[in-house]
Formats: sequence, structure tokens, C-alpha cells
Amino acid sequence: MAAGMRPRKRIGLIAHDARKPDLLDWAAVHRDRLAVHDLWATGTTGGLIADRLGLPVTRLKSGPLGGDQQMGALIADGGLDVLIFFADPMSAMPHDVDVKALVRLSTVYNIAMACNRSTADFLIASPLFDAAYTPVDTDYARYLERVVPMLPDRSPG
Ligand code: PGA
Repeated sequence: MAAGMRPRKRIGLIAHDARKPDLLDWAAVHRDRLAVHDLWATGTTGGLIADRLGLPVTRLKSGPLGGDQQMGALIADGGLDVLIFFADPMSAMPHDVDVKALVRLSTVYNIAMACNRSTADFLIASPLFDAAYTPVDTDYARYLERVVPMLPDRSPG
């Protein structure tokens, strides 16, 4: 059952290098709105947001060094409500599989996710951004209770 999001959101911020200026500019425009929430970010993105905007950020490892996976683990553990992920669509990434996994987990756990600036604008402009919100749960019970095909029993006799 979904725990529900409190008015104070737990927000993840990630930008690939080519998109960092855009994310920093977006965060500067919305600094006061972001300041009342709890921010998490991959290492380099988080360092820039803390240095340039003076916002407190919990910094994970740098994305390609496991930070994307740490963010994914936060999502899987119910520790994140919103992900703002400015991904670079024009470059091949060494951690492409981690990027895909993060987007997939955001879908699996139905968190609010923006992969570009327009969607991030729509998200932060939503009245839900500062309100309590209970997402509709996706029911994974059938998956968890599925019958797994087993090898034949090799016990002696
Ligand atoms: P970074 O990671 O914030 O440490 O640069 C971003 C990423 O590439 O996932």
C-alpha cells in the first residue's frame, strides 16, 4: 500500500554534464520552492547545487560511479517522491544501463519524474508539489505470488 507523499517532498536531482547548466538554471529559478523540500542528488550535480545555490543537498556518489543506482535504491525503498533527471539525449553514456534502470524504477514505483525542463516546470507548478498526495498503487501481488518453474527434484532415492 502506498505510504503517500507528505507536503515536504523528497526530491532527487540528476543532470548529465551537458544538461547541468540547464538544471542549475532551473533550480535557481525555483530556488525558494525547492528550499522547503529535502533534496538528494548525484555527486557532481549535488555539489553544484549546494555551491551555486546554497541549498542543502544529500549527495550520493557520482552517477557513473554508482550514484544512479543509489538513487534507484532510494526509490525502491520508498525514500523518494520526485525525480528531476535532466538526461543528455545526444551522448552515449558509460552508465547507460544505470540510467535506464533509474527511469524504469521510477515507473515501477510510480514516482513523479521529469526528464526535461518543461516537465520539471509543470511538476513544480503543480499544487500537488507542496501538498499531501497518495499515489494510486500498482498491484504487484500477482507477480510476487507467481509460480516459479523449478528444476526436477534430484534428491536421492
Ligand atoms: P553526477 O552524475 O551528478 O555525479 O555528474 C550524473 C549522472 O551522470 O548520472
